[in-house]
Amino acid sequence: MSRQASDTRLLIDPLGRRIDYVRLSVTDKCNLRCFYCLPKGYRDFGCREDYLTFDEIERVIGAFADLGVRRIRITGGEPLVRKDLSGLARRLSSLPGVEDLSLSTNAMLLAHNAGSLRAAGVQRLNVSLDTLRADRFREITGYDGLDQVLDGLRAAKAAGFSPIKINMLALKGRNDDEVEDIVEFCIEHGFSLRFIETMPVGTAGREASNHYINLNEIKARLAKIYDLVPSVMSGGGPARYYRITGAGTYGSGLHIGFITPISRHFCDTCNRVRLSADGTLHLCLGQENSVPLRPLLRQGIDDEGLRQAIVQALMLKPARHEFREKPEQIIRFMSSTGG
Ligand code: SAM
Repeated sequence: MSRQASDTRLLIDPLGRRIDYVRLSVTDKCNLRCFYCLPKGYRDFGCREDYLTFDEIERVIGAFADLGVRRIRITGGEPLVRKDLSGLARRLSSLPGVEDLSLSTNAMLLAHNAGSLRAAGVQRLNVSLDTLRADRFREITGYDGLDQVLDGLRAAKAAGFSPIKINMLALKGRNDDEVEDIVEFCIEHGFSLRFIETMPVGTAGREASNHYINLNEIKARLAKIYDLVPSVMSGGGPARYYRITGAGTYGSGLHIGFITPISRHFCDTCNRVRLSADGTLHLCLGQENSVPLRPLLRQGIDDEGLRQAIVQALMLKPARHEFREKPEQIIRFMSSTGG
């Protein structure tokens, strides 16, 4: 029997929030060791049998699409370390109901993959980049890779991704003096920019908390240089956007977003769930509520059963994270949940 294009049910959680966005992690492995994400030298990743196969991923995302999910973001770990990611992207972008397929990457492997990902239906790209200085890149990520990332960004531009958003984690004492430089870099290249507050996710995230900056500080600094006009940007995410004006021809189009999970959380409007690489459905980045879908898939659950399991899982979606009240709570790493 062919799959329905859309179920009559929608995913609405007990608080009335409509879920139309899935962040899909395809691996917990990463080719960088950003100090706020993974401990130095960490290698305790899942093994092949742990990960959902492409067939299993397609089934789960198909079930979500039947239930009204329209946006899928592929993430990780570093998604490009998973073999044939473009092949998976092609399958997901062809699913009935999937309207927007995007990718989060550190861009280390993007130069060789940008063209095939774009051809496979990935439309939008988020690239994590915390510094434009090669020595700091090494200090923050543990690897010499800045040139590779910049090559990846060039290839992404040439491949026609739109928009390309740079995600910069603002880290006191590590990169906060580069805020203006990264704005200028994004103006020059026509990228959008989002600043993100550090979250106490996993031991590495907690240890990085002493580098936390309230993004109001960054915004106030930028407002002294640029006119920041409140704006919106497509993508369904939690960033509060401003458009820069008064910065010349190029600057007038730049969007800057501020993602403030700590200083001003956005849980009331949360529209997402996360599927980790091992098939666990996480209902919240900052809580333990989760449902393992992999055993159901491997025990042969049918499509209707899978949809029911997802609808049931939504009942567990908590009201909000408690990063401020209980920073010790989330022991899993960002890369294992799917960032
Ligand atoms: N490898 C991909 C990338 O670099 O975008 C996707 C996964 S990565 C875990 C996704 C995002 O999570 C990155 O932008 C990273 O900066 C962010 N991240 C990791 N640990 C974090 C933390 N403790 N607090 C806030 N953001 C974090």
